[in-house]
Amino acid sequence: MAKKPRVVALEEHYWDAEVATHFDGAEARSPKLRAKLDDLGALRIKEMDEAGIDIQVISHGAPAMQRIDAVTSVPLAKRANDRLAAGVASHPDRFAAFANLPINDPKAAADELERAVTKLGMKGAMVHGLNQEGLFIDDKRFWPIFERASKLDVPIYLHPAVPSPAVVNAYYKDYIKDYPNIATSAWGYTVETATQTIRLVLSGVFDAYPGLKIITGHMGESIPFSLWRINQSLSRGGNKPNNFRDVFCEHFWITTSGNFSTPALICSMMEMGVDRILFSVDWPFVDNPPGTDWMKQVPLGKEDMAKIYGENAARLLKL
Ligand code: ZN
Repeated sequence: MAKKPRVVALEEHYWDAEVATHFDGAEARSPKLRAKLDDLGALRIKEMDEAGIDIQVISHGAPAMQRIDAVTSVPLAKRANDRLAAGVASHPDRFAAFANLPINDPKAAADELERAVTKLGMKGAMVHGLNQEGLFIDDKRFWPIFERASKLDVPIYLHPAVPSPAVVNAYYKDYIKDYPNIATSAWGYTVETATQTIRLVLSGVFDAYPGLKIITGHMGESIPFSLWRINQSLSRGGNKPNNFRDVFCEHFWITTSGNFSTPALICSMMEMGVDRILFSVDWPFVDNPPGTDWMKQVPLGKEDMAKIYGENAARLLKL
């Protein structure tokens, strides 16, 4: 019988109990979700086993460190990363991790990334949405993080968070009462993270740090579908010379998290190539079986399937 490909999922979340005390209200999550987010052991592994997932690369869910002030978050990120590393160390054959970064102090965040990678064995870091002041991650103040990630040769995962209140008010307010997810995973997160992606490419950060690697989830937050149009429009007169498509395809990897669509996958493969696409679920916000059941019936050959299931992630994260 053919050997089963190793299945790696890398947008899989937890919540650090101390970090979580900084958030309340709707963001505190339901008790059922909290039980999964709080678990770094049996419950998580049981659900991985039931779906055939071999390794989770674990990261904090949103909201996260970007919403906590610099003074508080620098020591807090260290404590959270030490706890996460201890959780991974209990199941080293099943878990790996992306670091928590105190991005409101970018130099300290860069140092913490280095500590997390070199001392705790983490595979990169995840950042979530706009920071406390509403700054996008392409702001030059954050570039020390990208410089260090490039030097360490680890990726930064750009994860969504709730959009700016001004955006929610202008774009989604009329429908929020009946359809709260319009501002989050149904659409708001996509717009937010696609905007982060476009801004990051235009910022010139990839000229400054040619080795920089970025991951986005949810099948690239719709960018592969719009890549031709973005690239063509940005090359019309009036725009500074740029090479959007080439920069995106050279520096970005995307995951299937929470977007188990075969047409979206095929489109992404045609735009970016199969080597850039990584299987992920977005557990526990999305259950594992819909992701693994979907993958089983994707009409690809076994070499491409093995790449998406885990080989691409293994190469990118040195697993
Ligand atoms: Zn997620």
